[in-house]
Amino acid sequence: MKTVSIGSLKIGGKSGGAGAFPIIAGPCSIEGKAHYLHTGNFLKDLGIQVLRGGIFKARTSPHSFQGIRESALEWLPQTKKDLGLPLVSEVNDPRQIEVLDDFLDCYQVGTRNMFNYELLKELGKTKKPIILKRGFAAMIKEWLLAAEYLVQSGNEEIILCERGIRTFEPLTRNTLDLTAVAYLKQNTHFPVIVDPSHAAGDSALVIPLAKASKALGADGILVEVHPEPGKALSDGDQALDFEGMRNLYHSLQDKPSIAPIYKNKSEVQIQV
Ligand code: PEP
Ligand code: MN
Repeated sequence: MKTVSIGSLKIGGKSGGAGAFPIIAGPCSIEGKAHYLHTGNFLKDLGIQVLRGGIFKARTSPHSFQGIRESALEWLPQTKKDLGLPLVSEVNDPRQIEVLDDFLDCYQVGTRNMFNYELLKELGKTKKPIILKRGFAAMIKEWLLAAEYLVQSGNEEIILCERGIRTFEPLTRNTLDLTAVAYLKQNTHFPVIVDPSHAAGDSALVIPLAKASKALGADGILVEVHPEPGKALSDGDQALDFEGMRNLYHSLQDKPSIAPIYKNKSEVQIQV
């Protein structure tokens, strides 16, 4: 299986190549075997090295699609192996860890669960990298304290993911806090990635936000892609279609004109 480096961490194994600017891409939700293979093969051919895809979904409304859940287990582990790409997926509950640990390469803690300390304590006992998304109303300090829960339980392989915060602005789904990315690059040793899809809530805004993230010195991005966004079972408005994904991929191959240099000071001191 391929491996990709995100900052100092590796997803999918302990050795292997690194993308210049790693892109983790895939659907918001895995919708079935054909959907997974269709999207996964497209992304693999494009050069994407890590897939994302929700299995257990944390939805604001209980009436919304809750994910393919346990029914994926019949086919997903083997299909994922055949495709040969590492997979990132969200874990919502400590009971899901055992189910997912056999075949996931990296856990994602979603925005709604950043404050779920019992989950963090259990997840910290695992040996795989963890993408820790920022709570949509979390201060940077609270986010770092959530990371501390993982560290305290034994897992330091943490990738922080800025995915937008809730502000007074209603015209975008969230407000992407690029200042937080710069702050974290300057003040912590954790790799920092950006999720422009959930920040924007609109596929038309994803490419500019991704480019800004790269220019700022983020360690990569996490984006949502769907073969037919209009038919997606979750987050269709923000999903890139295949053409959009191709455009994103190619627009990120250019080098930024000014590469930012952060003089990483030391571990940030968190006062509790
Ligand atoms: C997701 O990645 O599909 C997701 C639910 O993200 P967030 O937790 O940032 O809303
Ligand atoms: Mn989503």
